[in-house]
Amino acid sequence: MAHEAVIGLECHIQLRTRGKMFCGCPAEFGAAPDTNVCPVCLGLPGALPRLNHAAVEAALRLGLALGCAIREESVFARKHYFYPDLPKNYQITQYDRPLCLGGSLPAGEAGGERRYELERLHLEEDTGKSSHPVRAGDRPFSLVDFNRAGVPLLELVTRPVFREPAECAAFLAALRRLVRWLGVSDGDMEKGQLRCDANVSLRPAGAVALGVKTELKNLNSIRGVEKGLAAEIIRQRRLLEAGGRVEQAALLYDVEHDRLAVMRSKEDAQDYRYFPEPDLPVLRVEGPVIEAARAGLPELPWTRAARLVARYGLSAHDVSVLCEQRELADYYEACAAVAESRLSARWVMTEVLRVLHGRTGSIGDFAARVPAVRLGGLVGRVAAKEIPGPLAKRVFAWMLEEEGGVDELLARHGVRAMGAATDLRPLVLEVLGEHEGVVAEVLAGNSRMLDFLVGQVMKKSRGQAAPLIVQELLAGELARRAAGEAPPRAPEVGP
Ligand SMILES: [Zn+2]
Repeated sequence: MAHEAVIGLECHIQLRTRGKMFCGCPAEFGAAPDTNVCPVCLGLPGALPRLNHAAVEAALRLGLALGCAIREESVFARKHYFYPDLPKNYQITQYDRPLCLGGSLPAGEAGGERRYELERLHLEEDTGKSSHPVRAGDRPFSLVDFNRAGVPLLELVTRPVFREPAECAAFLAALRRLVRWLGVSDGDMEKGQLRCDANVSLRPAGAVALGVKTELKNLNSIRGVEKGLAAEIIRQRRLLEAGGRVEQAALLYDVEHDRLAVMRSKEDAQDYRYFPEPDLPVLRVEGPVIEAARAGLPELPWTRAARLVARYGLSAHDVSVLCEQRELADYYEACAAVAESRLSARWVMTEVLRVLHGRTGSIGDFAARVPAVRLGGLVGRVAAKEIPGPLAKRVFAWMLEEEGGVDELLARHGVRAMGAATDLRPLVLEVLGEHEGVVAEVLAGNSRMLDFLVGQVMKKSRGQAAPLIVQELLAGELARRAAGEAPPRAPEVGP
């Protein structure tokens, strides 16, 4: 019997706030262990939590961007379990009255997106971080760092809407782009700022009831999610096809070795003994606050992608690259405002991204050195065929290191685009003299060979000639020959 997979995701997003969720400790990543801690996030007796409103605002922005319904009154709850990295022995989270309900996220390439429906978004605090096993001599032991305890988290739960691991990968890529686009999280999966648990079950194809699910915990890369789910689907399929049963369990996936291991059999909700957090009031977010947050949202990535396709005539692939970061899309549009849009896209996607990938630094750092208007000035000259491509790339390299516009840079480096007819005419005549056969073919009507002649002149100019002027000169000379005028003498070569 054929089985189909049903997958749902629970994504944990660390919100980018200065302080933690319920205390003023810095929420930054990478500090020395146990230095960003206080009685509240260490769960010491008598310490009381105080809500960080910046985390609520970030959650609100994301919830509104996803089209969620925002609950004006939501409630924090205690979720009890014992674990070494959880100093209070409970986590403050939202349970039956979360901040955001419903909504959806479009994922996939521009124009071909699919919307994946969400169940809810809720606020909670992160746990500390365990490292294990660490070895000291022959004794293995674990280490716990409480810097992460209390860092604001947003948990996003999807409906069981995925059928393929690749859809989950596309969804996570879209989520990562969105949280960065909104500035609510850095979304770096390697740093644990975006983590994912995946629920997966199999059912006979066409059935409605869901099968028994397992949960893959703590997946911390998009590739890990995709590969881990593929491995678990194969494991469940083999079990079911052999007449076995799937046991409900939490699993860990080792992406290095492509191995699954059972972590624990899964608890049910009643095992956590949820109850409303008595130390925090009901969270009230009033209508005007919601509307102000909605008004403050930028144009969302999928809307912007559709607009870029329609306005600039770019391909879906190009738009997906340009809209990967909001700042990159901004840079592109500023460049396209002064130069031809498709050539601008090509320059941003090849030359600018090559620089960004080669050096550490953001598009913001890059734009500080080469503002979009400056790049647009260069691209405009290329589009007008006043500067040939190879020379333009040299100018671009100078732009990275030096001040000045295109003409200033050319002058400073003692180079000028060979544009004037007086510079180029001798080269054109030389080429015509060297390729009489080709000239005859062109005159006989084979216009494709004209490109060959242009190429030869470009070569002689060592890439410095403006192609448009070469074309014009060649066309002029050939027209004269077609009209039966005597060819001017090619210049003498050598003494
Ligand atoms: Zn603290």
